[in-house]
This record gives sequence, structure tokens and C-alpha cells, in this order.
Amino acid sequence: MTFESMWAAIEPLGRDAGTGGYRRYAWTACDHELREWFGQECRARGLDLTTDRMGNQWAWWGDPDAAVAAGDPGIVIGSHLDSVPDGGAFDGPLGVVSALAAADALRAQGFQPARPIGVVNFVDEEGARFGVACAGSRVITGALDADRARGLTDADGVTMAEAMRRAGRDPAALGPDAEALRRIGAFIELHVEQGRGLVDLGQPIAVATDIWPHGRWRLDFPGTANHAGTTRLEDRHDAMLGYAEAVLTARSAAARHGCVATIGKVTVRPGGVNAIASHVTGWLDARGPVEAAVRGTVEDIARVAAGHGATLTEESWTPTTAFDAALSDRLSKLLGEHVPRLGTGAGHDAGILATAGIPTAMLFVRNPTGVSHSPEEFAERDDCHAGVAALARAVRELAG
Ligand SMILES: [Zn+2]
Repeated sequence: MTFESMWAAIEPLGRDAGTGGYRRYAWTACDHELREWFGQECRARGLDLTTDRMGNQWAWWGDPDAAVAAGDPGIVIGSHLDSVPDGGAFDGPLGVVSALAAADALRAQGFQPARPIGVVNFVDEEGARFGVACAGSRVITGALDADRARGLTDADGVTMAEAMRRAGRDPAALGPDAEALRRIGAFIELHVEQGRGLVDLGQPIAVATDIWPHGRWRLDFPGTANHAGTTRLEDRHDAMLGYAEAVLTARSAAARHGCVATIGKVTVRPGGVNAIASHVTGWLDARGPVEAAVRGTVEDIARVAAGHGATLTEESWTPTTAFDAALSDRLSKLLGEHVPRLGTGAGHDAGILATAGIPTAMLFVRNPTGVSHSPEEFAERDDCHAGVAALARAVRELAG
């Protein structure tokens, strides 16, 4: 079971023949296949496989509860196996396959861990089906309320509770899981980089510093429906015009503040080609390395929108998520000071665990395309092996 053979085993699962992208959604048949594959890999290595109250899979080398009792809980590595719609092969699976390969490397070295080592497969990280990202880690940490999670629906109106039931799980069990969390002394998630940071620096591996502050806002623009042919321009109240200016302002304000801002979703009422828009709702996603700059970007957009009578509603806000400084420093020292430290604008289960107070760090592997959440996402095999080696060194240090 080499990195190559594991990669080859999962490569065809959930890949759409037309787009070449992956459609690996939580609690579907494809998800089941991936979970079965993970279970088989763990059993083949003699690891003890458990699932928590949400259904996240944990495989242990050593006794995690004995370690908790001794006050020295385990070292956990891993990531997720699900994808966004038409996602790439590496976002998530690279972390899971690398974790198993790192455990194999340690075995081959004859390493005997003093602390147990866990490999985790988080369920529903992308939120592609039910709309909430990192649902697996959010539920067990209590960041996502169990009733709210059970009631989330997919595009076909199937609730998460029903989807779990169909997948053979008991949705009543879903909820915070202190027992599962207690077992994690430290968590390291290896992930493909979702940008061009390492390409520009000419380095294969980075240690993460933090997850950028980010949020989502809803912009509602009022208008008056009327005939597109018979209404004079000066008599119109077209909700689209304010919306259009907000989209352009999002771009210019983000550039001014050193952030990124995106309006990627919009609904228009009544939505007729020959009707002036009576209402437009746009959703804004804004992120950046500095909280004040993200706030400044959103304020600039809100001011322009208000000039068109629009309202701005904050739907979510997540401040900077800093990874554990001592743990990250230790990784940097271990891997060499030439290894860059990078922040990221993407969310991860590692961020949810860090927010829950668990010492957490991340390693990024170079992505030559810089593209993610797309079939273009890539990592050279040599860089993948460098990632496995870095992860194995980290675990050897922490669990030795
Ligand atoms: Zn991911």
C-alpha cells in the first residue's frame, strides 16, 4: 500500500466523465465507497477504527483513551475525502492519503510511538450538499447546533438527518463529542495549497500561520417592476443598476484594501428578460489578511449600495483563526527555517478545531496551477512525497 496505490484506488471514485471533476458529496453512495476504502486501509494496517457522533472516522495506532487517562493525548493527522461540485482530486484526499503514508513510513522506520497516533477522515468538509462547510468538525465541537444540522436540506429537499439515515447512521446520535475531542493532543492537517504562494517562492512545503478573517453578507436592492419596452429610462427604478455598481465596487474596494471580495451568487425578481428588476439580492464573500481591511472593504461596498437604497446584512463573520504558535514554531524548526510560513483565505476543519482550543497546525503542499476547487488543481508526485516525509517527521517528533 504505497502512496501511489492508495491514490490509484480512489482516483476514479466520484469523478464525472464529462467534466473530469469530482462530485463526492456527504452521505451519498460515492461517500460511502470512500469511507469503506478508508476503513479497509485502516484495518489492513491494524489500526482501531472508530466513528464519533457525527460519523467522522478516526483510526488509532495505540490506545487513545489510555493516553487521555495518562494526561498525554494522541497526535492526529488527516483531512477529508469529500469535494465541492466538480472539484479537484487533491483538496482533502491528499491529506488523508499522506497521513496513511506517513504512518507507513514511521512503521517502516521501526518507530514505536510513545503517544497514540490517529488518522482522521472528516465528513462533509466542503458543505457541497447541505450548504454548511466543515459540518463534520463543527458538529462535534458544538460550533454547529445538532438540530440545525439535522434540519439542513440538500437541493432535492432531503434533510441531513434523512441522508444520514439512508447511509445507515443514526441522526439522533449527532451532537458535540467531548470524548472524541479529548483524544486529540494535537492535530496537523496536510493540504494542497489553494493559491500560488509556494509556486512564487519555489518551495514544495509550507507551514500555515493562520486562516484569514472572512465573512458573508447579503445585499438587497429595491426596485420597481415594469415593462422593459414601454417604460422610459427616466421613469425606471431598476434594482439591477445598484447591484451592478456594488459588484464593481467590491472589486475596486478589495484592491484598495489588499483583500479579496466576490459577489458570486445573485437572485433577480421577477427574473424576466423583458421586465425591469423589482428586487436583486447579491451575496458578498470578503476575506483578507487583516480584519480591519476586510471590514473596510465591506463598508465601502455598503456605502455605495446604500446610495441605491440597498441594505446589507451580515450572514456570517469569522475572525482570524491563528494556528497554535508553539506547535507551528516546532514544525518550522523541525522542517528547517527555509520552509515558508503562509496564511490562507480558505477554511478548513483544522480551523474549527483550533477555534475549539485544540493545538492545531497545517502543512501546505505546492500546487503548480494555483487553482483549487477545480479539476485543474494539482500537486507533483515529488511534492506529495515531500509532504508525506514532512508529516512523518512531525509525528515522529510529537509522538516520540
Ligand atoms: Zn479541503
